[in-house]
Amino acid sequence: MPELPETETIARDLHAAIAGSVIISVEVLRRDVLRDVSAARVRQSLTSRTVSRAWRRAKSVVLSLDHDAHLVVTPRFTGALILGAAAAEDRYACVRMGLEDGRELRYTDVRRLGTVAFLSSDAFAEWSAALGPEPLDADFTVERFSGCLRGSKRAVKAVLMDQSRLAGVGNIYANEALWRAGVRPSRRASSLTRRERATLHAELTAVLHAAVAARGTSFRDYRDAFGARGGFASQLQAYGRGGQPCTRCGLPLKSSHAIDGRATVWCAGCQQ
Ligand SMILES: [Zn+2]
Repeated sequence: MPELPETETIARDLHAAIAGSVIISVEVLRRDVLRDVSAARVRQSLTSRTVSRAWRRAKSVVLSLDHDAHLVVTPRFTGALILGAAAAEDRYACVRMGLEDGRELRYTDVRRLGTVAFLSSDAFAEWSAALGPEPLDADFTVERFSGCLRGSKRAVKAVLMDQSRLAGVGNIYANEALWRAGVRPSRRASSLTRRERATLHAELTAVLHAAVAARGTSFRDYRDAFGARGGFASQLQAYGRGGQPCTRCGLPLKSSHAIDGRATVWCAGCQQ
């Protein structure tokens, strides 16, 4: 499932490739990926519009249009935004957008659990306001991070992944940040000391920066806008390594689904 680094990679690539491009045709092939908008409105609202900016908020790619409305694409498990030649064979294509220069941007999704939303300026502001701060923003200080964790009796891993508290972090990077920081994922968020919060803040931002630099992690399905895999999987220390030796202390890593139903991997030797 694309998290911050993967979505950031897609958004940066798309911005470089299509900012300033005009959408000349829109075809909705699978209506069930649309959220709170009809296929007709998507067609009307996008056709003849210029993409002014492609960027990321949380785990969504945002295409901002010249009339200050936004297409918000959330790939979830198997969704992908692919830029390529028009009319390319793609049996999983859900939405196709033809660009004036003959290229096509399409949203494709095998399981169709991802979503495509079209939001007015006001609706977008409301959606964004319900999300937590962006961990790679310059104003994401230790104090702001402490504010995300404050008062929560839930497991720190669950709070890291709660999009209303902190944007963009999912299972891969929550596991990695906690391993790097030496903090056990099941700890109550409110129990972390100031020093642990500072270490976790530093390791979380470091692992996200490193993963963006490697163009994300392709564990199963994730592909970038040109269909290529991300390169961060070889740097993973915890996620996907249950039962394998901890690279810091040598003990076998533990794995459980107890916290949030997702695979949590940690080292009982060096995560306190
Ligand atoms: Zn260890």
